[in-house]
Amino acid sequence: MKGIFEDTATAFSLKTDSELERAFFLFKLIANEPLVRIGTAMTNFAIKARLPVDGLIRATVFDHFCGGVSEEDCLLVVDRMWSKGVASVLDYSVEGKNTEDPLDDALAKVLKILDFVKEKDAIPFAVFKPTGYGRFALFKKVSENKSLNAKEKEEWNRVVNRFETTCKKAHDLQVSLLVDAEESWMQPAADKLVEEMMRKYNKEKIIVYNTLQLYRWDRIDYLQKLKKVADKDGFKIGIKAVRGAYMEKENDRAEERGYPTPICASKKETDENFDRGVEYIIDHLDTISLFLGTHNEESTYKLMTLMGKQSIAPEDKRIWFGQLYGMSDHISFNLSAKNYNVAKYLPFGPVKDVMPYLIRRAEENTSVAGQTNRELDLLKKERKRRKI
Ligand SMILES: Cc1cc2nc3c(=O)[nH]c(=O)nc-3n(C[C@H](O)[C@H](O)[C@H](O)COP(=O)(O)OP(=O)(O)OC[C@H]3O[C@@H](n4cnc5c(N)ncnc54)[C@H](O)[C@@H]3O)c2cc1C
Repeated sequence: MKGIFEDTATAFSLKTDSELERAFFLFKLIANEPLVRIGTAMTNFAIKARLPVDGLIRATVFDHFCGGVSEEDCLLVVDRMWSKGVASVLDYSVEGKNTEDPLDDALAKVLKILDFVKEKDAIPFAVFKPTGYGRFALFKKVSENKSLNAKEKEEWNRVVNRFETTCKKAHDLQVSLLVDAEESWMQPAADKLVEEMMRKYNKEKIIVYNTLQLYRWDRIDYLQKLKKVADKDGFKIGIKAVRGAYMEKENDRAEERGYPTPICASKKETDENFDRGVEYIIDHLDTISLFLGTHNEESTYKLMTLMGKQSIAPEDKRIWFGQLYGMSDHISFNLSAKNYNVAKYLPFGPVKDVMPYLIRRAEENTSVAGQTNRELDLLKKERKRRKI
C-alpha cells in the first residue's frame, strides 16, 4: 500500500509534458538556497520599485503555486483537479495588514468566496486566517488577558463580528470552514473565538474547524479539554491537524524571553505527538472530524492504515487529507485515485500581494528544508517514464 505514492503516472496525470518540464526546472531552481535568497531580495526590490515583473513571476512560481488572481481564474484549476477527484480550498493569500480597511476587505473576500463555493462539490471548504480579521497585537493582548481600553474594545468587537458573520454565513450555506492557526502567543484568543463558533454552528453538522499545531506539546491536552466541553455543551469539533509553521519564531521568542518553548524538543517528538493527536481524533470520530494537513508520506500512510484497521471507508466524509497546490501531487492524486477525500489549498490574489506566500513556499522547498529532493525525484521519474 505504501508504494502508492510512487505512482508518478497518477500523481502527474494532469500535467502536460511542458507543465512537467516547468515544474522540474522550477524545483531545480528553488533547490538552490543562495539563488532563492538572491531571487527573493531582487523580487522584493522589483515590486517596491514598481518594476514590471508581474509577467515573469506569473509564468514561474505564481502559476505553479497559485490558482490565479481572482476566484474566477481559479475555476480552471479547480475543475481540472476535480476531474481526478481532488477538491480545492480557495485561499485568498493576502497577508499582514494593520489598518481597519484591509481587515474588512478580507472579510468581504471570504464572504464572497463562501457565495462562490456554495453547492460546488469541488470546493467543499473555505478558509481564513485569524490575523486576516484583526490586528496581531490585539489578538496577543486578548490572549494575555490584558484589559483593553475603550477603543481597543470596539476594535475587538469588530473582530468578533467578523468571525461571527463568516461562521454564520458558512452555516447558512452549509460550507465547511477551516480557521488557520498562527503563533502561540496570539492563539488563545483565536481558540476562544473558534470555540464559540463551534458551540453555535457545529450542533448537527461540523461546519467550523480549528487548527491544531501538533509541534506544540500542549495541544493534545487542549483538544482533550475541548472534547469534554463539547460533550457537556452538545457541540461537535472540527480539527485541521498540522505540524505547525512557526517553529523558529516560537523557539527564538521563548529563548529570548526565558520561558519554556511550546515546541516539541525534536522532529521525532513532533512526529510522535502528531501521531498521538491523530489517533486520539480517530478514536473519537463520533464527535471530532479531521482534516489532515500534511505533506508527510509516513503520516498520510499511518492515517490510511488506522482507517483500514477501524474499518473506516476511504470516502468517509469525517476524514480529509490536505496538501498545498503545487506540492506533493504524488500524495494528493494517488490518495484520490483510491477514493480518499483530498483537498488542496489553492491560493490566489494579486501577484504582489501573494509574494510573501510564494517566498515562504520557495524557502521551505530549498534543498536545506528538504522537500525539494522528493519532488525532484518524482518529477525525474515521470520525465523518464514519459521519455522526455
Ligand atoms: C493543507 C495545509 C494547511 C496548513 N495550515 C497550517 C496552519 O493553519 N497553521 C500552521 O502553522 N501551519 C499550517 N500548515 C503548515 C504545516 O504546519 C507544516 O509547516 C508543513 O505542512 C510541513 O509539515 P509536514 O507535516 O507537511 O511535513 P514534515 O516535513 O514531516 O514536517 C516538518 C514540520 O515538522 C516540525 N519540525 C521540524 N523540525 C523540527 C524540530 N527540530 N523540532 C520540532 N519540530 C520540528 C515543524 O512543524 C515543521 O514544519 C498547513 C499545511 C498544509 C498542507
